[in-house]
Amino acid sequence: MVLDPSADVGRKVWRRCSYCPNTESLYLLEANANFVYVQCPLCHTRWWLDTGFGAGKQAEPSDVPPAWPRPGS
Ligand SMILES: [Zn+2]
Repeated sequence: MVLDPSADVGRKVWRRCSYCPNTESLYLLEANANFVYVQCPLCHTRWWLDTGFGAGKQAEPSDVPPAWPRPGS
């Protein structure tokens, strides 16, 4: 496996690799809601990583902002 062309040293995720001894960081290739597509710089494995937070997360009742009336409604 080769390094993805979109792998950028300026875009890193500070997570350890799940597939090899790399404990430093992963390349961030794509992001979608609370998932990030990462590639390990060491073993070059790519996978979707659930960050556990972000837009895809189910909002807790306390996280929901109050519903303000729209102007003109
Ligand atoms: Zn790895």
